[in-house]
Amino acid sequence: MAITPMMQQYISIKEHYQDAFLFFRLGDFYEMFYEDAKLAARELEITLTSRGGGVDGERIPMCGVPYHSADQYIARLIEKGYKIAICEQVEDPKEAKGVVKREVVQLITPGTVMTEGSLRPKENNYLAAMTASDDGTYSLAVVDMTTGESKATRGLSERLVSQELNSFQCREVVVASNIGQAVLDHLQQHAFTLSYEESEAMPMAFESLLPKDSHQDIARVYGRLLTYLLHTQKRTLDHLQPVETYEVMQYMRLNEQTRRNLELVSTMRGAHKKGSLLWLLDQTKTAMGGRRLKQWIEKPLLNEAEISERLAMVEAFIAHFFEKESLRELLNDIYDLERLVGRISYGNVNARELLQLKQSLGQIPAIKKVLQAIDSASLQRLAGEIDPCEDIDTLIEQAISEDPPISITEGGMIKEGYDEKLDEYRYISKNGKAWLAQLEQQERDATGIKSLKIGYNKVFGYYIEVTKANLKYLPEGRYERKQTLTNAERYITPELKEKEKLIMEAQEKMVDLEYQLFQNIRKEIKAHSERLQKLARYISTVDVLQSLATVSSENNYVKPVFNHERRIRLTNSRHPVVEKVLDSGQFVANDLYMDDTCDVLLITGPNMGGKSTAMRQVALAAIMAQIGCFVPADEAVLPIFDQIFTRIGAADDLVSGQSTFMVEMAEAKEAVTEATEQSLILLDEIGRGTSTYDGIAIARSIVEFIHTHVKAKTLFSTHYHELTDLEQALARLRNVHVGAKEEEGRVVFLHKVMKGAADKSYGIHVAELAELPEEVIRRASEILVELEAGSSRQQSVTQVATAIEKEEQPEEEQVPVHGPESTVETEQLALFAELSSTDEGKLS
Ligand code: ADP
Repeated sequence: MAITPMMQQYISIKEHYQDAFLFFRLGDFYEMFYEDAKLAARELEITLTSRGGGVDGERIPMCGVPYHSADQYIARLIEKGYKIAICEQVEDPKEAKGVVKREVVQLITPGTVMTEGSLRPKENNYLAAMTASDDGTYSLAVVDMTTGESKATRGLSERLVSQELNSFQCREVVVASNIGQAVLDHLQQHAFTLSYEESEAMPMAFESLLPKDSHQDIARVYGRLLTYLLHTQKRTLDHLQPVETYEVMQYMRLNEQTRRNLELVSTMRGAHKKGSLLWLLDQTKTAMGGRRLKQWIEKPLLNEAEISERLAMVEAFIAHFFEKESLRELLNDIYDLERLVGRISYGNVNARELLQLKQSLGQIPAIKKVLQAIDSASLQRLAGEIDPCEDIDTLIEQAISEDPPISITEGGMIKEGYDEKLDEYRYISKNGKAWLAQLEQQERDATGIKSLKIGYNKVFGYYIEVTKANLKYLPEGRYERKQTLTNAERYITPELKEKEKLIMEAQEKMVDLEYQLFQNIRKEIKAHSERLQKLARYISTVDVLQSLATVSSENNYVKPVFNHERRIRLTNSRHPVVEKVLDSGQFVANDLYMDDTCDVLLITGPNMGGKSTAMRQVALAAIMAQIGCFVPADEAVLPIFDQIFTRIGAADDLVSGQSTFMVEMAEAKEAVTEATEQSLILLDEIGRGTSTYDGIAIARSIVEFIHTHVKAKTLFSTHYHELTDLEQALARLRNVHVGAKEEEGRVVFLHKVMKGAADKSYGIHVAELAELPEEVIRRASEILVELEAGSSRQQSVTQVATAIEKEEQPEEEQVPVHGPESTVETEQLALFAELSSTDEGKLS
């Protein structure tokens, strides 16, 4: 038996959407068949059924979701990274000859989804496209369909393209199918959906979105992005804003590891916003402000003038507390303008959302006034740029009624007085009803039947109803019987029918006209999307600035001062998040100084002593300063850092599958090869992942290399006390340590960063503080003395390190091998050799 025509239709459509769920519209349901059905039933926990109609009477697996609640199922599939092709009936089933014509009207993907259920208010939803250039570099374009923002950059290495994708947290990336395997490997470390689009031709209609002098690479990558959007969305993309091109070098570069280690937008454990820098700084009042803040944290600035401009505005808000508070009040009433504009352009906005737009616009004049009241040139300038879009406010005020329904097809949206024709229909409809009431009275009077009434039903329209008992009072002739009920008869009269026609027409036309008027209003507002988008941009910026001001003043942060001598001077500095989660007054503030004679701080001290907290504190201060925020300290003098590298040991490494030590070395490699004098490097306990000699050798060699060649500002924590001797050998290295003491029989970490190296035997001290048996302590001290007398540690370290460089054969004899596989060890050594091969100074 052949398969049914409808299933044939299904199969021929599905063929074009292999990588998507095909939601096949059948009446009030979207149905899925075959493998789609099996997978959807599993992913959505819905019942899998089957239907006949397959080849040879085979049953076809099938499941479905109701049309009216499809959004929630789509949201769940999108969340899991799937795509959904929405296939609708595109002709009236009544007019169809044979199977109803069906077409895919939209491909919904993680990077293009517009439904609210799939979006987080305070996060952008980025779709990216990539192209490869002949010179081996890559170009990248990203767009947030919900806001219309797009950005593009070019000339990126594989490492940088991966870094950028990560910083945007793209949900989906569009590439050509012949994309190289190497870059694909890089990309596949990220959790996003991969999509393909071969064309790099820029669709003509969109050329005006590109900057005038933009590079061919940008046109190609944006061309791929747009072509993909046109293919999948199958509708206008009028709300796309002009592309913002940028250079990676315009912003502080932070690799994925550093973003994670510093917990910029989510925590390392659990990946929650709570506990991150973003969480701490987010006192924004609007969703768009929240998104803008996240963008700022993802891309700290390098341009001092731009940073100073932001800082000046934050400072002005801090100085004008009452104005800032009233601004916060006003912002409370502002909806997500950016996404509203997106929806207006996309055509799925309703009257209630237009009222949200109106309410938001209503706040703008007052916001302008507040900004103008603050005496700050920057804020005045910003206020001057704000266009309150009063014409749009007025349009909505005049057109949209106060309490419109959610639906846009049932009328009730447009205000009285907005449109003459509509008012006329309304008049007829309303008067028609009054007329019916009058007629009812007339008929009662004429017949003397008090219970006579005029009613309405869908089949017969208006009718006159008379109970059986009263039929005898009804005169002959004028009344035409239409329907008989148990107790009553229903009649019509020519008069009644004539009026009915007028009323029905008016009502139908009224609803149609309202829909038409609403679409026109929507179009008119859409024509102003650019102005609204600009407004949204200014308001979100104001929101971020007030948020930074609010956090800065609540927590007593200080305005940073920048210098070009690479001096770091953080007096009474705190870790902003740790300080916040500890009870007030519990955090021990620290002075962290690195003047122009010091490039490396070597931090020693016991575990849990506060070493890595102090290190992160410096990096966070730099990032906060460069996004335009005040800094948790009493004094903050900082250089402008071009990049921050971190190697901070984490338990997570154990589950990543790679050898911890290998990860450690790879990260150290990136730092020493990519950092410049303007960079900041944090290395926490480097070398801990291998044997002592190995570890000391590598740690020392890395410190020396950075000190001699890289010259980046570096904080280096270690528990290898041997390294503290480096202070004598390296002119720009200083020792500091964190201390501990005993209090009521317990070890108390002071968390205080102090000058000089930690006591040689601090480990034994801590053991003592922890009240290990006296004999253990005594014996440990003896062993320490023996070890120190026995051989000069320094000497052996040098020997070992030199051996690693020179020897080719497996190192079992010279270097203790750790870990189950010696191949890993060989890799580590190779990498280490790579690290130190350019170090002419070698180990002294
Ligand atoms: P280390 O790197 O030396 O092992 P950490 O920096 O991880 O130590 O700090 C250990 C714990 O001490 C952290 O959980 C932190 O909450 C607390 N801590 C660190 N520095 C301070 C400080 N300056 N004041 C108060 N508590 C601190």
